[in-house]
Amino acid sequence: MKGHLPIEAPLPWHKDCWESISGARSAGRLPHALLVTGPAGVGKRLLVEATVHSLLCSQPDERGLACGHCRECELLAAGTHPDYVKVGPDPDGKSDEIRVDAIRRLSKADTLTAHRGGYKVIVLDPAQNMNQSAANSLLKTLEEPCPDTFLCLVCERPDRLPATIRSRCQQLRVPVPPEPQALEWLRQHTDSPDATILLRLAHGAPLKALALMDEDRLPQRAQLFLGFVEVSHGLRDPISEAAAWNEHEPAVVLDWMGGWVSDLLRLASGHRAPYLINQDKVDPEAGHRYLLRILEARANQHSPVNRLLAYESLLVHWARIGRRHNPGLRQRD
Ligand SMILES: [Zn+2]
Repeated sequence: MKGHLPIEAPLPWHKDCWESISGARSAGRLPHALLVTGPAGVGKRLLVEATVHSLLCSQPDERGLACGHCRECELLAAGTHPDYVKVGPDPDGKSDEIRVDAIRRLSKADTLTAHRGGYKVIVLDPAQNMNQSAANSLLKTLEEPCPDTFLCLVCERPDRLPATIRSRCQQLRVPVPPEPQALEWLRQHTDSPDATILLRLAHGAPLKALALMDEDRLPQRAQLFLGFVEVSHGLRDPISEAAAWNEHEPAVVLDWMGGWVSDLLRLASGHRAPYLINQDKVDPEAGHRYLLRILEARANQHSPVNRLLAYESLLVHWARIGRRHNPGLRQRD
C-alpha cells in the first residue's frame, strides 16, 4: 500500500459545502451555529477543521484556505489558540456523554468573547453525545448568540439531537461522493487492488474505506464469513464460533452480517448481490426475520449486553436456519 498522501480538506466532494461556508463568510452571513452532518467517513471533521483554520487565519488565500504560517495559524497548530474551543466527551469520564458542565463553561462570557479580535470558534463534537441537561444548556447559548462567535456542531446522527437545537442551527450535510469520484480519490491515496470492495463495505465513504484498508479488514471479514457459512452448514459449532468472534467489534461484525444476509436475500429474489458472496440459499421469510435480529443487535450494541451473548444468540439462530434450509451436511467446496 502507498504510504498515505496527506489528506487535505476540503476534499473534492466537499466543494459545495466549502463554497457555501466561504460564500456566507464573505457575504457577512456566516451563521451563528452550523450543524455539520453526514455519515462516518466522508470527512466532516476535516472540513470543520479547515473551516476553523480559515476563520481564524489572518490572511486566508482567495479560496478561503488558511495560510498556515501567520501567528493565528501557528497558535492553532500548537493547540494554544485562545479563540478556539473544542468540546467533547470528558476523556477521563466513564461515559462518552458530553455533560452539562462542559457546556456551562462555554456559556461563561469570558469564554465567548474573542481574545484576538477575530472570530471565537467553538466546535462541539460529537454533538449527539450531549446528554439532556447539556442540550438544554446549549439551547440557552443558541438563544442568546454572541456576535462573532461561530459554533459548529459535528454530528453523525442529527435525529438524536433535540429538534429545538436542530432548528437553531444552519445545517450543512457533507455528502457521500459519487462512486467514480470516491474511487479516483482513493486511488490517489492507496494502490490497494481492493479499493472498490472496500468502498462498498464503507457504504461509499472514502475515509472509512481507507481506514478499513489500514485495519486489514478484508482478511478478517473473509475469515468471519467462512465461519458464518460453515455454521450454517453444520460444519462449525455456533458457540465456539461466537467465542472466536468475540475479539471483533460488534459495530463492524453486525454490519458485515447485515450485508451477507441482505445479499443472500437479493440472490434468493433473483437479484445480483453487489458484495457477492456465494450461492447459498436462504428462505426469504427466515432471512428477513434474521436480518431484523441483526438490526436489533446493532441498535443495542451500546447497551452493556455482553457481546459474546449477542454473537452466540445470532449464530445459534443462523445454524438453526441453515439446518432447515440447507439440509444435510455439505462439505466445503
Ligand atoms: Zn494563517
